[in-house]
Amino acid sequence: MDRLRLDKNFSDLFETTTDLIHYLHLDGRIELVNPAWLNTLGYTFLEVHGKSIYDIIHPDFLQSYKECRQRVMANNSNESIETAFLTKNGQIIFGDGQIAYSFVDDKRKYTRCIFKNITESRGIEKKLIENENRLKTFFKRAPDAIIIIDETQSIIEWNPKAEQIFGYSAAEVMGNHLADTIIPHQYREAHKKGFTHFLKTGEGPVLNKTIEITGLHKTGTEFFISLSISNVRLEEKWVFIAFISDISERKRTEEELINKKAELLQSKVIQEKKDEFLSIASHELKTPLTTIKAFTQLALSAANKDDAENVKKYLSKADYHIARLNTLMVELLDITRIQTGKLILSMEATNFSTFLPSALNMVEVISATHEIILESNQAARVLIDVIRIEQVLTNLITNADKYSPGKKTIVVSSVADADNLIVSVKDFGIGIPSDKLDKLFTRFYRVDEHDRRFTGLGIGLFIASEIIKQHGGKISVTSKVGEGSIFSFSLPLIKQ
Ligand code: ADP
Repeated sequence: MDRLRLDKNFSDLFETTTDLIHYLHLDGRIELVNPAWLNTLGYTFLEVHGKSIYDIIHPDFLQSYKECRQRVMANNSNESIETAFLTKNGQIIFGDGQIAYSFVDDKRKYTRCIFKNITESRGIEKKLIENENRLKTFFKRAPDAIIIIDETQSIIEWNPKAEQIFGYSAAEVMGNHLADTIIPHQYREAHKKGFTHFLKTGEGPVLNKTIEITGLHKTGTEFFISLSISNVRLEEKWVFIAFISDISERKRTEEELINKKAELLQSKVIQEKKDEFLSIASHELKTPLTTIKAFTQLALSAANKDDAENVKKYLSKADYHIARLNTLMVELLDITRIQTGKLILSMEATNFSTFLPSALNMVEVISATHEIILESNQAARVLIDVIRIEQVLTNLITNADKYSPGKKTIVVSSVADADNLIVSVKDFGIGIPSDKLDKLFTRFYRVDEHDRRFTGLGIGLFIASEIIKQHGGKISVTSKVGEGSIFSFSLPLIKQ
C-alpha cells in the first residue's frame, strides 16, 4: 500500500515546524511523524514506524489520551489535549495540542495529532513525575519485600518481591489487614498490642530497628524473615513501611552449623567416655575374675581336705561371681547389638501376672540384703521377649539393690491403664538429683563417676531403655535425693 502522502502546502510546514506531528492508523500504529517529533523524542523514523503510539505516551497520560482519540474518531471531531511522551531514553516530554480525525481518501483514515513541546514550562511537574517514576522503579525492583500499611493496618502497597516472598499477589492482599495476612498466629496478639500502644503514645520499640522473626506464607508455612519497619507521617496520618527479606536459607545454614558443632562435641564426649569406659570395663571384668580365682582355689584346697561343705560353699560363691561376669559380658555384647541394629527380639504373648513372680524369684538370688516385695500383680497379656524383659527387671532390681545400701526392701508392682501395663521398681536409697534424670538412659552415663562406693559401667539403663523402646513401651524415673527412686516401664497390652 502507498505511504501516506501529504499535500504540498502542508508538507513544507510538516517538515519545518517545531511542533510534534504524528499520523496514526485507527488502531494507534504510527504511520508518519515529522522531523521535530523525531528530534524531540530521539527516535529514527524506522524505529517508530508501525509501532503503537501507546508505547510512547507516558503511562500516567495513556488513559486520557486513548479516550480523547476514541471521542475524536467517534464524533469525527477535533479535541485539545495535554499529554506527555516518553523519549527513547525515558525522558518525559509534555505536549499541548490537538487530535483531529483526518480523511486522506475513502479507504485510509488517520488521526492526526499536533503538539507543542511545553516541557520547559512544566519543569516542576516533570521533576515530580520523574521522581515518582524513579520511586516506582525502585519499589518494583527492590531486592526486599516492601509492604506499606496505614493506621488501620490495611495493606496499601505490596511490591513484586513481597508477592514472591509471601506468595500473595498485590491484588489479593490490597486493603487486607496485615496481621491476618502474614503474621503468624503466635505473634498477632503482641503485634496488636504494640500497634495500639504506638498510636496512643508514639512509642514503638520495634520501629526503625531490624529484627529477625518468622512470617506466614500463603501456603500456611512459617519462614524466617528479617524485618525493619519505619513510620512516616503523611497527610496527618501515620503510615508504616516494612522492608522484609527472606532469611530462611541463612537460618538453615546457621542451624546446620550449630548442629554440626553439637555433633562434633557429642562425638568428642562419646570418645572420651569410651576411653574411660574401656578402663572401667577392664577393671569391672577383672574384679569378678580375681574373686572367682580365689574361691576356686579355696574350693580346691577344701577338696584336698575332703571338706565337702566348704567345697560347696566356695563353689557357690564362685558361681555367683561367674553369673555377674556373665551379665557384664552380655551387656557389652548388647551395646554392640544396639549400635548395629541387631538387637532382635523374639516376642511371645505372655501372661504377665504368671511371668512376673517367677522372674522375681530368679532375681531374688542376686540380692542377699534386700527383700523384694511384689505389691501388686496385674493380670494382663502382653507381647514380650521374656528373656529381655527379665533382663530389664534384673537391671532395675540390681540397681535398686546397689544404690540403696543399708535399706531392706525393694517394692515391685504392676498395674494397668487402658492401653498399657506399667511395671515399677521402687527403692529407698540414695536417689538421683533432678537435673541428672534426663541423662540417665544415655550410654555410659553415671550420676557420680567418682563415688567409689558404687562401681558400674553406665550401660544397664541404656540397654533397658532400648529393650523397652523396641517393645513399643516407655521407661521413666522419678526420684528424690536421700529418699529413693522409682523406675517404671510400660508395655502395650494385647487387646481382646
Ligand atoms: P551402672 O552400671 O553405673 O549402675 P546403669 O546404666 O544401670 O549403670 O545406671 C546408670 C546410673 O544411674 C548409675 O551409675 C547411677 O548413678 C544411676 N542409678 C541407676 N539406678 C539407680 C537407683 N536405683 N538409685 C540411684 N541411682 C541410680
